[in-house]
Amino acid sequence: MPPVTRFAPSPTGYLHLGHAFSALDGWTRARQMGARQSGGRFLLRIEDIDQTRCRPAFEAALLEDLAWLGLDWDGPVRRQSEHFADYEAALLRLQKLGVIYPCFCSRKDIAAASSAPHGPDGPLYPGTCRSLSPDDAAARQASGAPFALRLDVAKARALSGPLAFHDEHIGTIDALPEQLGDVVLARRETPCSYHLCVTVDDDLQGVTLVTRADDLLPATHIHRLLQALLGLKTPSYAHHPILTDSNGTRLAKRQGAKSLRDLRADGLTPPEIRRLAGFPG
Ligand code: GLU
Repeated sequence: MPPVTRFAPSPTGYLHLGHAFSALDGWTRARQMGARQSGGRFLLRIEDIDQTRCRPAFEAALLEDLAWLGLDWDGPVRRQSEHFADYEAALLRLQKLGVIYPCFCSRKDIAAASSAPHGPDGPLYPGTCRSLSPDDAAARQASGAPFALRLDVAKARALSGPLAFHDEHIGTIDALPEQLGDVVLARRETPCSYHLCVTVDDDLQGVTLVTRADDLLPATHIHRLLQALLGLKTPSYAHHPILTDSNGTRLAKRQGAKSLRDLRADGLTPPEIRRLAGFPG
């Protein structure tokens, strides 16, 4: 069966060549050789839950950039900010399973816990609030103290048992969600995190193959655990290496990589950009 793929950018800046690669990868797989006629679909999802960083102007720009590049998508665009109820329902389900706990530590507290082990994305949460008594936690929440809701990975693992997922480039991978520690699933100001929304949405949208850069591979281990806890389907994955420039520096907005718009202003055409990303022009 041809896959249902998706491109899921966050409108926090302009798209660059790395984004073009992820989008073209998903689009090509859903469109190649009659795939569309037999059910292949390419979906577009705007991951805009962090309203402090996302801008409508970046969303408008990315839609335009994708169309300019020659990509089209099936069905309406899904905007995460319009679906908070879906994520809340999932969070409630996890709460009922007893695998969520409130955490009152600030980022500074966590960084200061020098004993905290490091994971692929920095210091792991040392578990300070995991053992707060329910009364204590409730009193602190009632006092208006800011908090995050974290996943108790050890408890969740005990419920789920061993898990694995498939990556088209790597093969079968045993899920090791503890490598990211007790991740945040919601905050008071943002009622759901990337991990929760992406897992719920990939299932809700019927995505069968997730194409994205391999800096998100550690996150997939958490997503596999969430799928098991929430009874969701597990898609296949195709994590591709992050695109780098000729110095080996990762192409990212933070590193000042040229955006697709910059390349376009430099005179590059869509076929040239597609070839630069490694696809047939
Ligand atoms: N929204 C994420 C980003 O722009 C990508 C999420 C994903 O592909 O799972 O980095």
